[in-house]
Amino acid sequence: MATAATHYTAYKARPFTREQRDTTTILFGGLTWKHERLVQGVFNNLNYKAKPLPNITRADLDAGKELIDVGACCPTIFTTGSLVNFLKTEVAENGKQKTLDDYVFLTAGACGPCRFGQYHASYEMALDGMGLKDFRLFLLAQDELDQSPEKSGGLEINMPLSLGIVWAILCGDMLTDMEYQTRPYEVTPGETDRVLRESADYLFEVFQKRPIHGKKWGLLAWHFLSSYFADALRVVRKKFDAIEVDRLQVKPKIKITGEFWLQTHEGDGNYNIKHWLEQEGSEVMPPPVAVWLGYLLHTPIWRLQKKAVVDRKVRTKIAMVRGMEKLYVGTYNRFRKALGNVPYALPDQEELKNLASPFFHYELRGGEGHMLVGKALHAHVHKHANMTCELSPYSCMPNTMSQGAMANVQGRYPELLYAPIEIKGDAEVHALSRCQMILTEAKKRAQSEYVEAMARTGMTTEKIRQIEEKRPEVKKATYRVPHMGYASTAANYVMHLAGAKAAAV
Ligand code: SF4
Repeated sequence: MATAATHYTAYKARPFTREQRDTTTILFGGLTWKHERLVQGVFNNLNYKAKPLPNITRADLDAGKELIDVGACCPTIFTTGSLVNFLKTEVAENGKQKTLDDYVFLTAGACGPCRFGQYHASYEMALDGMGLKDFRLFLLAQDELDQSPEKSGGLEINMPLSLGIVWAILCGDMLTDMEYQTRPYEVTPGETDRVLRESADYLFEVFQKRPIHGKKWGLLAWHFLSSYFADALRVVRKKFDAIEVDRLQVKPKIKITGEFWLQTHEGDGNYNIKHWLEQEGSEVMPPPVAVWLGYLLHTPIWRLQKKAVVDRKVRTKIAMVRGMEKLYVGTYNRFRKALGNVPYALPDQEELKNLASPFFHYELRGGEGHMLVGKALHAHVHKHANMTCELSPYSCMPNTMSQGAMANVQGRYPELLYAPIEIKGDAEVHALSRCQMILTEAKKRAQSEYVEAMARTGMTTEKIRQIEEKRPEVKKATYRVPHMGYASTAANYVMHLAGAKAAAV
C-alpha cells in the first residue's frame, strides 16, 4: 500500500496580536548601531517595544554554523547565529515560555536569485534546532511600504512604520558619513565617537517624538515637505561643529563596496574592516544604505520602459516613479545641506548602470546586481577614492559573478586599485593581509597627490597653518572641503586653501 507523501509546509508564525503589543519586544538587526538606534525610535514612536540585537560577534558565526546548512552564505550564518545566541541567553535567564512570549523577530525579506530571499528559512531551521519552533518571525518585504495590517495584527507594517524606517535610515547614513569623514582627522582622539553617540541619542528622541500627520499620502507628503528632520540634523551639525580636525594628515581614501550586509556592517562580521582601515591610516568612504533604496526605487523604471514600447499608458507610471525618485533624492540632499553638505551625494542610478553595462547587465538581479561594478568605476573615474575595497561573503552567488566581471574591468582600467576581500568570518589574517597589499599602493597614491597639490599651488605646511589661523572655520569637522580633482582629502584641502582651480577630472 502506498504511503501518503509528507509535503513540505512553510513556517507559519504564531500570531502576534494587538493585545500582546505592550508585553512583546520586536527584535531586529542588520544595519549599523546608528541606523538601528534611530529605527528603535521609530518603533517606540508607534508604541511598540523594540530592541536591536546585540552587535555581531565571532561567537555568532559558530552558533550559526552549528544550526544551519553548510552552504549558507556568511551573512546568513552570522545573522542567524546572532538571533540564536540572543535567544539562548534569554532562555537560560528567563525560561523558554517567557522567551517565546516576550519577543518577535522582524527581518527584511525578498525574492530573487540570492539567499536573502531564504533568510527566514535559515532562521526557522535554527529555531527548530534549538527547540523554539514556536518563536515568531516576521518578514518585511523591502519593496512595499504598506503591507496590509490584518496579516500581522500586533505588528502593522504600514506607512507610518515604513516611512519612519526609511527616514531613520537616511538620517543614519548622514551620521555615518559625518563620522567617517571626521574621525581620521580629529585632533582630540575619541571626540568623534563621543559626539556621534550624543547625536544618535538625540536623533533617537527626534524619531521617538515624530508627529504623525495624515495616514497614507498625507503622511508621505509630510515626510517629504516637513523641516522636522532637517532641523534636527542642523542640531547635529552644531554638535559636530565643536570637533577640531587636522586635514593635512595624508591618508588614502578607501571606498567600501560589496554585498549589502557585509558592506554596511561594523563589527566582527566583516573583521571590523572599516575600523581596521582607519587604524592603518586611511579614510573610509562608507556605503550609504540610501543607495540600495535608490536602486529599489529606480529599477521599476527600466522594467516599465520596456512595456512602454507596446503600452503608452505606462509612461504615466514612469513619470510617477521618476517624480518619487526626485523627491527621495531631494530629501537626501536637504539632509546633506543641513549638515553643511559634508555627507556625500548619492550616485545617479543611470550613471551606475551605464558605467557597469559593458561588464555586467543591469537585469542580472541578486545581491547588489550591477552596482558593484558601477560603484567601483564611479569612484575611480570621478576620483572619489584611491582604492575600492569590495567585501564579498564566502559562498555568495551574486558577488561571485561581479568579482568575475571585475577581472574584465581591471583589464580595461589597470590603474584602478581594487581589493576584493572574501569574508568567511574566521579567516581574518588572510583577508586583511590581502587588503594591506593594495592599501600600500593606495597610500603611495595619496602621498603623490599631496606632493603634486603642494607643488602646483606653491604651498608649504607653514603657509597652510597660517591660513588656518586666519580662517579657523576650516578646521571644523563641519567645514566642507570641495572636491578639487583629487581622491584624498589632504590634496583637495591644499588645493582649496590655495584657492586653486579644480584639477581636470
Ligand atoms: S547577496 Fe550573497 S551574501 Fe547576501 S544574502 Fe544574497 S547570497 Fe547571501
